[in-house]
This record gives sequence, C-alpha cells and structure tokens, in this order.
Amino acid sequence: MKSIKGVLYWITGLSGAGKTTIGNYLYYILRQNQDNVVLLDGDILKAIVADSCTYTEEDRHNRAHKYARLCKTLTDQGMVVICCTIAMFDDVRKWNRENNRGYVEVFLDVPMDVLKKRDQKGLYSSQARGLTKNLSGVDMRTEFPKNPDITICNDGSISIKECVDIILKHQIQYATAFDRDTTYWNLFYASNPEIEHPSLFAQYVYEQLENGKTLLELGCGNGRDSVYFSEKVDVTAIDASDKAISDLNKKYQDRSGIRFLCDDFVCAAALFQRQYDYCYSRFTLHAISEEQELSVISNVRHALKDSGLFFIEVRSINDELYGKGKPAGKNAFIYNGHYRRFIVLEELKNHLVQNGFRITYAEEAKGFAPFGDSDPPIIRIVAKVNNSNN
Ligand code: ADP
Repeated sequence: MKSIKGVLYWITGLSGAGKTTIGNYLYYILRQNQDNVVLLDGDILKAIVADSCTYTEEDRHNRAHKYARLCKTLTDQGMVVICCTIAMFDDVRKWNRENNRGYVEVFLDVPMDVLKKRDQKGLYSSQARGLTKNLSGVDMRTEFPKNPDITICNDGSISIKECVDIILKHQIQYATAFDRDTTYWNLFYASNPEIEHPSLFAQYVYEQLENGKTLLELGCGNGRDSVYFSEKVDVTAIDASDKAISDLNKKYQDRSGIRFLCDDFVCAAALFQRQYDYCYSRFTLHAISEEQELSVISNVRHALKDSGLFFIEVRSINDELYGKGKPAGKNAFIYNGHYRRFIVLEELKNHLVQNGFRITYAEEAKGFAPFGDSDPPIIRIVAKVNNSNN
C-alpha cells in the first residue's frame, strides 16, 4: 500500500452509523504502513472542547467548525486525519473540501430502523420517551451529505473490513495546485523593474504598528511592503508567485524577522499554525472571488489575536478599469488576460462585521494609490477583532 499524506478522511453519519468502529479499523490498517495517521473521534473531541458541549444546532455547528480547523492544521503538516463526527452541516463539509489538500468524505448511510435497533448509546429510545432533544436525523434539522466521495450503507449486510476496503480503494483526489494568476504575476515580476519604495498604504499602516508585534501579509508581491514592515514587526509574507517568493528568499536569506512563503493566501497553512497581531492585504481581495473573500476573512479572523487588526486596501467599483474586458462574475472582469473583481465598500464592511470584526476606519478616496497618470478612488479599511475585551 502506498503511503499518503495531507489527507482528511471525514467519516460522517448519524449516531450509531458505525463511524467510530469503521474509523478505528481504518486507522489501524493505515498505521500498519505509516506513522503520520491521527484518529479524532467526535466523542473524544467533544470532551476536549468541553466549553461548548450542548447539542443545540448553534453549538454543534461551532464545534464542527472547530474540528474542521483542527483537521486542516494537521493535514497542512502532512498528517492523515480520520475524523469521525456527525457534523451534519453543508458549509463545514464544503470548507473541508476547499481547505484540505486531500479530502475523502465518507457517508455512512444507515436506515433509521437499523439505528434504532442498535441504539448503543440509548439515544433513540431516550428521544422517543421525550428525555433527549436535538437528536440528529430525528428532531433536529439535518443536512445530509450531498456529494460524498463514498456512501456506504452500513446496515450490517457487509462487514466492517469490507467497508474499510471500500474506503481504501478510493482514488484520492488531491486539490489542484492553486492558481492565483500565477503565470501573469510571474511574468509581471520578471519584466517589471523593481519598485523598492513602500506603498502609501504601507506607510499609513506602519504608523499604527507596535514594535515587536507580528504581521501576516496576504499577497506580498515583490515584498516592498513586507520588507518595510520588518523594520518594526516580525513579518510572515505569502504570495502565489513562486518566482516572486524564490527571488525574495534569495535576496533576504540573511535577514531575520521576515519569512516569505509560496502559498494560497485564501487558506494558507500560515493562517492556521500561529496567531498574529496584524494582517495586511493590499490589492489582493480583488484578485479572488466573493466566495473566496468570505473564506479568507473568516480564516484571518481566526488567525488574529483578540486585539488583532486587519488592514485592507482594494480597488472599488468606482475604478476607471471597472467594466473593461470580459465579464467574469459579479463585478469581475478579465482584462488583458488578468482577473479583477471590484469591491463595493459597504459589502466588504458587512462581510467583515459578519465574521467578527468591528470597522474602525473605512474610506474610499482618490490619492490613496496614484500610479502614473491614473488616480482611481481606492477603498481603505481597518478592521479590529470584535470581542468583549475591546
Ligand atoms: P457511531 O460512532 O457512528 O455512533 P459506532 O461506531 O459507535 O457508531 O457504532 C454504533 C454501534 O453499532 C456499535 O455498537 C457498533 O458495534 C455497531 N455497529 C457498527 N457497524 C456495524 C455493523 N456493520 N454491523 C453490526 N453492528 C455494527
């Protein structure tokens, strides 16, 4: 058996469907061949996150998101994770598929009469007697998997070993390497003379940074702003252009307090492995779709400390380039072979607020980023993590 890495097996099904039994068996089979396998069982996880142990839909949903983020943190580091959990939420499964390198969703679909007969935890009979509420698949809204990779009717007609064989035979689909216009940017950085001075936005942000804190830059390009920030704070800078990152790593290999990583900034491993005081995104949110914008905002929220600040500068729908080129979705166009999505200030503010930020500054104005003869209105936002302590 070939060893694998960076894969999440998300084993889901109603209570009693056989998640723990099958997940355990799968774990021991994989462990015969490799060490990087972790089993996370819902009952164990639930006991660990004891702060949110009720069974309301909201608590279940929050827990499911926590488990999903834990799984991703591990798959990013090459682990094979087997997570056995009911977590019947479409958005959580969608997040898993988008955020893990390899993802196998296994749905143990077992008829209710079989589950009721098994009733190992006594939940179904207790619900019938009115003693248990919010039981998935019975008296609670349940979003069953819509497109699992594997569906197994674990009603006892096939053995546990046969179930695991089905899972092991599955050809894992790995996420295709991200493409954030990498070819465009590689050419751009190869052919444009280096702009060394920091942007006006970076100069505005610099004044607000406290010495010795940590900053994550999403889409650092040629590193002009990151290097400037590193005079004051510890910088982690991400960009999709392998050309830009390898040039930066060569140029600044002896410089401490700054590291350049080639990754997809929407779901980069760096967003999940530590927390930062600041996150900086200049002209990057308009390079991704609205859906990806929501993903990255949510990921940044979790990657920031409780007092964290998110600095954003982005093109607005009032830009002179708006409408040029081929339409490519809401407020988006492909112009000169390059994707750009123009932002509505109020919409972006709403997305930030919905994801746990408080807007401390927002403005759309000319003069923020003049370039040659052009001086379009540009959006600037500073958002602060919204929690009870600030
Ligand atoms: P879950 O983790 O989904 O709640 P479990 O793995 O704990 O489910 O299984 C619930 C019960 O059903 C256990 O007693 C288990 O031994 C039994 N079980 C699971 N799969 C089968 C099967 N294929 N045939 C018979 N019993 C099964």
